[in-house]
Amino acid sequence: MSKLPMSPIRTGGKPARVSEHQLEIDGLSFDVHRSDRRKTMQITVERSGDLSIVAPSTVPADQLVSFVEEKLIWVHTKVEEKARLQQRAPRKEFVEGEGFLYLGRSHRLRLIDNQLVDLSLKNGRFCLRRGSIHRGRDIFVSWYTRRAQQWFEKQVAGLSNRMGVTVQEVKVQDLGFRWGSFGTDGRVSFHWKAILLPPRIAQYVAVHELAHAHYPDHSATFWIKVEQHLPDWRWRKTWLAENGIQAEGL
Ligand SMILES: [Zn+2]
Repeated sequence: MSKLPMSPIRTGGKPARVSEHQLEIDGLSFDVHRSDRRKTMQITVERSGDLSIVAPSTVPADQLVSFVEEKLIWVHTKVEEKARLQQRAPRKEFVEGEGFLYLGRSHRLRLIDNQLVDLSLKNGRFCLRRGSIHRGRDIFVSWYTRRAQQWFEKQVAGLSNRMGVTVQEVKVQDLGFRWGSFGTDGRVSFHWKAILLPPRIAQYVAVHELAHAHYPDHSATFWIKVEQHLPDWRWRKTWLAENGIQAEGL
């Protein structure tokens, strides 16, 4: 007499556990998002290493599991890659000579005894008032935020007409592990860190987010929209995935 396994869903001898919002498989845990609008399944590996899967509402659990099983090697490779990249970002110190990025270029830090403003960029050097070092990070973040606001407003103004997008507001803030987002209210947000990226990469981030005004997911039609406005988006996307983490050091 043979016993049936508790769960009919098995992978590599280890059972996969699947609930409405969670799928655990091969030591990995995915957030499951179901949507009536989805036609295909898609796995996303966030920069944080978090995993999610979006699927049409009607896809049964075992089909979800076999979809993920087929992509396990790819997912494990991505997760390891993200972990390795995370380690590479050194934390910045507010000492003489430290390099800080701005639009893809590294500028060395000078500490100034007498300066009216906390921070300025002069002759390719970041000049920080010595007495403000203890607030160094906050000062840099607000400097980057202001610059990002101006830069992305200009980008969006140039792109929105061409891309047929109505933008209500451009916001710059801390978006965690995301570079940008496009809200259903017509508000486009960018992470202040996006201003550390080289202009052509930051431009890709802007086009990417505005394309989300047309397609909220990363479907084939979404990428076609991106390609219409940025034919060479692929290398920019790859560059961002591989090097974007350098902007994390602050
Ligand atoms: Zn996106």
